[in-house]
Amino acid sequence: MSARTAIVTGGGSGIGGAISQRLAADGALVAVFDLSGDAAKAAAASIEKAGGKAIGIPVDVTDRAGIDAGIDEVLARLGPPTILVNNAGLTVEDKFLETTAEAWHRMLAVNLTGTFDCCQAVLPHMIENGWGRIINISSSSVYGPPPGLAGYVAAKSGVVGLSKVLALEFARYGVTVNTIPPGFIDTPMLRDTVQRGFIDVDQQIEKTPVGRIGRPEDIAAACAFLASDEAGYITGQSLGINGGRVI
Ligand code: NAP
Repeated sequence: MSARTAIVTGGGSGIGGAISQRLAADGALVAVFDLSGDAAKAAAASIEKAGGKAIGIPVDVTDRAGIDAGIDEVLARLGPPTILVNNAGLTVEDKFLETTAEAWHRMLAVNLTGTFDCCQAVLPHMIENGWGRIINISSSSVYGPPPGLAGYVAAKSGVVGLSKVLALEFARYGVTVNTIPPGFIDTPMLRDTVQRGFIDVDQQIEKTPVGRIGRPEDIAAACAFLASDEAGYITGQSLGINGGRVI
């Protein structure tokens, strides 16, 4: 992966942070995009401290102009991005009949339209290089949706559909597009959900055949594989990382 440039959205926390670290450890030059500029810069600084190369840029994935400006900065400082991990995400549980239009649109904007915009902005660089890897972080809830997550599950299902179509459209340019649906990974997002009483950790561990909560590094390992040269014949697929759960 040396000398390849990767962008990881939402890379300032949780799963995105672990993916950024792992890609950098594997030799990629990593641009950490995050809503919080401080979190993006802290993640990049910790990668550099460990001997990797990274920059942190404040980018809100719901702002297309901001995405384009972020990519211009990546081009200038790290070269053309050929690995893109769309990881930035937001989940809010809501009773369907009480969901406001604003909450619905926000859920789609961060999880789905943000993925669309980042793919559209980065793909030309992949095509020009004749090589690219897009990994979209979806959710295991797409395959076994719990009640109370209509907006989130709709948005993440859209990510899966979008990825399958992009896989077909860009395979001829050496670009693969796959999704990773994580299940039950110990991150600030999951801890917030537990705190709001939506998830019970012990119950979830009981339902997980490997008998533990997932770690961000579990997702990062799968992501590093899908981003590698070796994974060039894998596209349009979904690689579930969930400790063996079926729901
Ligand atoms: P996390 O710790 O909350 O990390 C998400 C990151 O995305 C945060 O740094 C957040 O920034 C950033 N972000 C949110 N909105 C953004 C925006 N508009 N633009 C740019 N960055 C934004 O959550 P996580 O658990 O690591 O989740 C990572 C991905 O995995 C998400 O797509 C999530 O849906 C998916 N996922 C997680 C699990 C799980 O069990 N943890 C399960 C299924 C799917 P702020 O902190 O500043 O808001």
